[in-house]
Amino acid sequence: MTHTHPHHHHAPAGKNAGLRLGLSLSLTFIFIFVEIVAGLWGNSLALLTDAAHNFTDVVALGLSWYAIILANRPAHANKTFGYHRSGILVALFNAASLGLISLGIFSEAWKRFQSPPEVDSGILIGVGLVAFIINIVTAWMVKEGSEHDLNMRSAFLHLMGDVLSTLGAVAAGVIILFTGWNWLDPLVSVLIGALILWNAWGILRQAIHILLESTPVDVNMETMLGDLQKVPGVESVHDLHVWSITENMRMLSAHIVTVDQPISAGTGIQSAIRQLLAERYQIEHATLQLECACCNAGELYCELGSHAD
Ligand SMILES: [Zn+2]
Ligand SMILES: [Zn+2]
Ligand SMILES: [Zn+2]
Ligand SMILES: [Zn+2]
Repeated sequence: MTHTHPHHHHAPAGKNAGLRLGLSLSLTFIFIFVEIVAGLWGNSLALLTDAAHNFTDVVALGLSWYAIILANRPAHANKTFGYHRSGILVALFNAASLGLISLGIFSEAWKRFQSPPEVDSGILIGVGLVAFIINIVTAWMVKEGSEHDLNMRSAFLHLMGDVLSTLGAVAAGVIILFTGWNWLDPLVSVLIGALILWNAWGILRQAIHILLESTPVDVNMETMLGDLQKVPGVESVHDLHVWSITENMRMLSAHIVTVDQPISAGTGIQSAIRQLLAERYQIEHATLQLECACCNAGELYCELGSHAD
């Protein structure tokens, strides 16, 4: 069938998402060198470890940035859906790297609990404060648009975890300065590691939801089916699929059974259905197959494995 409806897909991640991610990337990248110098100068393993952590941040942010650039590329003969799913791949990679980072934190903290090394609290407080400010600024820069875009949200959640991490590091530094309780340093890192692991799990769950072509969580299939069957001229609906390319780009395909009628009458039914789907369910891309006699047994949800027709 011809396919000429206009596509009004939403912008992927708010205004200037690529620019804001790029700025966060540059800030974090510069700070890596500050932490390495401070870590070597103050003989602080904690700061060197955080520099390593920030390096993985730069890699993750850089990939998020690249995913947004990719998503803006037009579809072509070899990629008819375009590159929108690249953001989901980046979210998966982010989740995996967050999981690895928290495991690294746990093992390092375990070693330090055994024999807490002496922490230079002055350097920990000073560099921790700068890290805290940089994390606040970068988290604020990626916040806009993070509610509706998994890619931006994974970056934002990660940076919020970093904000809490550096705040905890500064607090531990202050207490160590007055009490000499060096074991506070690994204790704070265990709490931070648990938070990072929790974020990783949330991102992983949502990425898998989209990769398994699940129905968007706010779409009630029973209600939608009822709405479709109420459209004048629709006798029944079967072989119904609803899925998401990314969180903000939904697709639907369905077989619509009507009475035997001229194609011009069917076009009216199609545009009525398209309007309903776009307005009530934010589904901008629907592929509808009109039938007057049911093509098969007419299951509502088809068994893909038995598609032999
Ligand atoms: Zn981080
Ligand atoms: Zn099917
Ligand atoms: Zn289309
Ligand atoms: Zn059919």
